[in-house]
Amino acid sequence: MQLQSMYQEIILDHYRNPHGRGLREPFEAEVHHVNPTCGDEVTLRVHLDGDTLADVSYEGMGCSISQASVSAMYELVIGKSVPEALATGEHFMTLMQSKGDAAVAEELEDELEDAVAFAGVSKYPARIKCALMSWMALKDASARALSVTHPATPSGGQA
Ligand code: ZN
Repeated sequence: MQLQSMYQEIILDHYRNPHGRGLREPFEAEVHHVNPTCGDEVTLRVHLDGDTLADVSYEGMGCSISQASVSAMYELVIGKSVPEALATGEHFMTLMQSKGDAAVAEELEDELEDAVAFAGVSKYPARIKCALMSWMALKDASARALSVTHPATPSGGQA
């Protein structure tokens, strides 16, 4: 099977059978992100155990890329610490900036698992935001959850 069609199969499989979908309790933070250029939406909750992502639960609607991306992300980040998960998100960002460079995808394959299947999306600037929406939501929710469970020194005071 060709790599591109294998990647498409992985994306379709996550779209049809999303992993970890549904909003669950408990959670420390909930965010709602939209990608207005495509009409994608995701509501995402983060539950931390210490700084480990004990659960990431979500609901969403939109194109197959946006919804498959949340599912693949869920698989990747559950059980990781927030810094590890955000580092993985940075690698996903690198993949999205690769403009379809197969060498970049190959390099990131072990780290990104199924999420490497979105490599082809990097050739289509209009779709990159679809794939990145879930990771933006995770970053946002994790930061909020950490600020709840690990309150910073009471100097800032902003929400
Ligand atoms: Zn989309």
